[in-house]
Amino acid sequence: MKIGVIGGGQLGRMLALAGTPLGMSFAFLDPAPDACAQALGEHIRADYDDKDHLRRLADEVDLVTFEFESVPAETVAFLSQFVPVYPSAESLRIARDRWFEKSMFKDLGIPTPDFADIQSQADLDAAVASIGLPAVLKTRTLGYDGKGQKLLRKPADVSNAFAELGSVPCLLEGFVPFTGEVSLIAVRGRDGETCFYPLVHNSHESGILRLSVASSNHPLQALAEDYVGRVLKQLDYVGVLAFEFFEVDGGLKANEIAPRVHNSGHWTIEGAECSQFENHLRAVAGLPLGSTAKLGESAMLNFIGDVPPVEKVIAIEDCHLHHYGKAFKVGRKVGHATLRCPDRSTLDRQITAVESLIRHS
Ligand code: AMP
Repeated sequence: MKIGVIGGGQLGRMLALAGTPLGMSFAFLDPAPDACAQALGEHIRADYDDKDHLRRLADEVDLVTFEFESVPAETVAFLSQFVPVYPSAESLRIARDRWFEKSMFKDLGIPTPDFADIQSQADLDAAVASIGLPAVLKTRTLGYDGKGQKLLRKPADVSNAFAELGSVPCLLEGFVPFTGEVSLIAVRGRDGETCFYPLVHNSHESGILRLSVASSNHPLQALAEDYVGRVLKQLDYVGVLAFEFFEVDGGLKANEIAPRVHNSGHWTIEGAECSQFENHLRAVAGLPLGSTAKLGESAMLNFIGDVPPVEKVIAIEDCHLHHYGKAFKVGRKVGHATLRCPDRSTLDRQITAVESLIRHS
């Protein structure tokens, strides 16, 4: 089976690493000459709205999937005429726009921060008057890794905020005084079969994910599965979906969903029976899903900008290196390490060892 992937970054690369043993081959459509997935499959170098190359991709593959959600809607609609596309155009439409996404959560009874659609500075002033400060202003689309958002603490932060984010449609959200951030990675097959990985606790720095730790028997697991299950059913979703929550007052508030494999699920490559990448491919290909059971205690640490010396990373016991083959760049995710340890105290020790390597390299 040949899988077409829109996007050829590290997520596409890891999909191919998981799918190749299943007998799958891959074609990636990505305009970047150095798209790092090209080491693992055919690289169709073209813009995401280039109809000739999209048609070529559709003719070559059995189905198309995505490694990022900001794909133009017309691209998805165009491809859908010729080849099955998972997740669906509707799932992408909702997930790429924070207003549609939060409105869906609200309709499904999933708690969220207070939110308002912002089309002008006047809308923002009115929303701040009702939601209050502090609040977070976010562009409705194209935000990632903390980009496209602004924390509004005091009235002076509000006066020019809409223009500062580019005068594009935005969402204002009440600030959530969270005690933690967790994500749930779920997978749903074409036949509706659904599995959930254990909740993951995530730590960010400067808006970028640094550390994910998979939990054991998290008290909010069942609640998170209930919320995510509602979304999967609503969207008749096929594939892996990541759902990020704020932990607050002993409950959960929905932050956002990603309709794809997700950075907070990378630990599953070594830390779970079947990884998020393999399970995404199984789901979109109509194959039976694999077990999401955790193996031992597991965590993932991102390498941002640069990968520490390979020999030092792999010298750490229980540590598995994933080097994306990307050039150094400040703030760029260039690799990660997965830890899989027999117990929690060993895991904590090994996290400290990798963090120290990151600090000193
Ligand atoms: P996002 O791109 O929406 O995931 O936001 C990036 C990060 O900003 C989150 O992981 C949080 O740490 C923080 N953040 C986003 N929205 C809020 C909010 N409404 N209240 C508090 N912190 C937030």
